[in-house]
Amino acid sequence: MKKKSLLLVGTHNDGKFREISKLLSKNIKKISPKSLKIKVPKETGKTFKSNSELKASFFYKKSKLISLSDDSGLEILALNKRPGIYSARWAKKSGSFKKAMINILNKIKNKKNRKARFICSLSIKLNKNKVITSEGIINGHISHKILGTKGFGYDPIFIPNKYRITFGQMGALKKMKIDHRSIAFKKLKKKLKFYKFFI
Ligand code: IMP
Repeated sequence: MKKKSLLLVGTHNDGKFREISKLLSKNIKKISPKSLKIKVPKETGKTFKSNSELKASFFYKKSKLISLSDDSGLEILALNKRPGIYSARWAKKSGSFKKAMINILNKIKNKKNRKARFICSLSIKLNKNKVITSEGIINGHISHKILGTKGFGYDPIFIPNKYRITFGQMGALKKMKIDHRSIAFKKLKKKLKFYKFFI
């Protein structure tokens, strides 16, 4: 039997770990930093790309395993692209995602433009000198209410273009086919063929 390759999926967020793992080949054994008692690094970058690269490099250094990390978030046009890279931090500061979503709905309640997008930067650290990154974007708008209980994070207030329901109302399988993470994933998969690494 062919030996499975090991890959560290660098996130402590269980929702993300599940979603990223589902995108990866069954031939890969997915390891979480939690299981290796590795903490998360400080996200000191100013962009999604710098943060995802910083995380993948940190986990590689700590585990000596090929490491995949993402940095993602929700950009709302009427809020000058916030929360953006601060998406997780806004939720923490508000006390919960529910409270953060209520705050957002209040902040934009009189705004005509409800355009928003989820962005995902996905990086893989292959060895000491090589990190490869790709980016996925899904455009949409913010709903008027918190809708749905599926998914995680800001899913219940984001309606992707061409749909009438939020990510929170959409099944996981459907979301995974169209979201920012899967777009970034497909691009990364293509780039990795060149390095003969198959995810
Ligand atoms: P980070 O990438 O770990 O800094 O966190 C990104 C944050 O953005 C998450 O904690 C969520 O709040 C939000 N986010 C990223 N992707 C999604 C998604 O697919 N659905 C809902 N929220 C998301």
